[in-house]
Amino acid sequence: MENKITVDGLTFVPYITKEEIESQVKRVASELREDLKGGNPLFLCVLTGAFIFAADLIREIGLNDAPISFVRYSSYEGTSSTGEVKQLMGLKEDISGRDVVIIEDIVDTGLTASLMVEDLKKRNPSSIRFATLLHKPQSSKTGFQPDYVAFTIPPKFIIGYGLDLDGKVRNLKDIYVIQEQQEK
Ligand code: IMP
Ligand code: MG
Repeated sequence: MENKITVDGLTFVPYITKEEIESQVKRVASELREDLKGGNPLFLCVLTGAFIFAADLIREIGLNDAPISFVRYSSYEGTSSTGEVKQLMGLKEDISGRDVVIIEDIVDTGLTASLMVEDLKKRNPSSIRFATLLHKPQSSKTGFQPDYVAFTIPPKFIIGYGLDLDGKVRNLKDIYVIQEQQEK
């Protein structure tokens, strides 16, 4: 793991290691595996940030019959939310009668999450579960509560493991936090 990473003039320091990510992904996967028993699951990955978490999570859950589909939303510019959620790609699949598991990278204001859940409810799924890698409860503007959370974190900007700064550094295996906002 690098000690420091500079992106667009901002400095980031190590925050969550790939080993910690792996162990929390395993925990969330076993909770979901248990809760989905006897169900009719369909995974729904929220692009772009969640693609790496989703890839690891569905392989860890190990349900061979469960399909995965994708939706795409965008609300961030630089290191903060614009407050406006844009849907860039909608859902084509029929989800009626399905136990939908939404897989998201991070719940920040909760605007994307609540909009998505409201939209999916209209399509008659059997159930909707929301799994997120990260949750920043102190940034919430909606009170939205995800059902499965790998890590609860303070409202600081982070990158890596799928999360980007203006499209960059999604490839990093570990998660880094912006240095300017770090208390330590
Ligand atoms: P929300 O609608 O404000 O909850 O924002 C959710 C989306 O904003 C996430 O799916 C991310 O794409 C992006 N986002 C929120 N916080 C961060 C962060 O710390 N780093 C990178 N992207 C973030
Ligand atoms: Mg996202």
